[in-house]
Amino acid sequence: MNQYKKDFPVFENKPCVYLDSAATAQRPGSVIEAEKYFYENMNANPLRGLYELSMAATDAYAEARTCVKDLINASEDAEVIFTRNTTESLNLAAYSYGLNFVHEGDEIVTTVMEHHSNMLPWQMVAERTGAKLIYLEPEADGSFSKEELDSKITDRCRLIAIAQVSNVLGCVNPVKELAKRVHKNGGIIVVDGAQSVPHMKVDVRDLDADFLAFSGHKLMAPFGIGVLYGKRELLEKMPPFLTGGEMIEYVRLDGATWAELPHKFEAGTVNPAGAYGLKAAIEYLQGVGFDHIRETEDSLTKKIFGEFSKLPYIHIYGSPDPLQHTGIVSFTIDGVHPHDIASILDADKVDIRAGHHCAQPLMDYLRVGNTARASLYLYNDEEDVDSFLASIKKIRKIMGFQD
Ligand code: PLP
Repeated sequence: MNQYKKDFPVFENKPCVYLDSAATAQRPGSVIEAEKYFYENMNANPLRGLYELSMAATDAYAEARTCVKDLINASEDAEVIFTRNTTESLNLAAYSYGLNFVHEGDEIVTTVMEHHSNMLPWQMVAERTGAKLIYLEPEADGSFSKEELDSKITDRCRLIAIAQVSNVLGCVNPVKELAKRVHKNGGIIVVDGAQSVPHMKVDVRDLDADFLAFSGHKLMAPFGIGVLYGKRELLEKMPPFLTGGEMIEYVRLDGATWAELPHKFEAGTVNPAGAYGLKAAIEYLQGVGFDHIRETEDSLTKKIFGEFSKLPYIHIYGSPDPLQHTGIVSFTIDGVHPHDIASILDADKVDIRAGHHCAQPLMDYLRVGNTARASLYLYNDEEDVDSFLASIKKIRKIMGFQD
């Protein structure tokens, strides 16, 4: 058994084979306890009260921000903005940066493999500004050819928006190279880190990312807390996304001035309990270590690929190399709808995802309506994969095929 599994109360309370961590991760007891501790010992509205409880909440919130800054190697706390999730973070970047700094005639480059959360905001920016939206198309293994990049990233490109890891193909996109290309033209890169930050060391300065968005819940933190990292010089010149309490310096009847970063982008009462839980999740993650996470995910993905290769009716999407999948295996079974795959697995208490994975244009591009997806994380083990495979091997028979 995986040594970390016992840290996750859900596996004791509701035994299951959980292979849907790309949708949301399970939470270790330490994260659940941290959030509870906040409410039992520090619960007050942070950044407002001048009494001890409120100051404790303020400190907890600030410590969480420093913890995120260190995780992604941002230069300073002020570059870390707390949001609700990746979707809100990407919308903040689109509304506040995109609508104000992308203009008619400019080009925005994204990819057909994006999650809708990193596609619809840029469609909106293109529509409202008159910029042209260009989609990079990957090869079957998820990579982009040099010709594709050369022909579509022109000197009119002002912004690239791309997932560092695809939530369907699991491939790692060349963010560092794309950052270099777009910076040469004075443009910027927005990185969707929803599937990368929980699984690998992401260093915003090494990547030279201008923005990085991710969700706490995919890295074992509570729901309702997310992050937008942005370079200070960009955040400084952007107008606020939302207005109201906490994000102001001074309000008059005829206007207002804005608070310092990061508060300019955190309107209204914030989520200090979620941030405190996020800090506990990051500490847990760092205790396990990204090397260990990678080893676990890679060895289990290899096992799945090995067994799948013996079953000619199974098709895997993305690279044929299991080590290029970041623990994400999207697949179809001939003659069986992915929803039926998920339901049959559910009867065996094996939890996977089936559907379009909020990536309908990618499904169209792959010429498949839906796929099944198993996604791994640090608490999965050989027993989980054995149960998954045993269940998979029964499916065609249940559906009436004589293989
Ligand atoms: N981007 C990617 C690549 C994702 O996988 C997801 C969620 O699955 C999102 C964005 C959206 O994340 P959230 O729903 O937490 O905002």
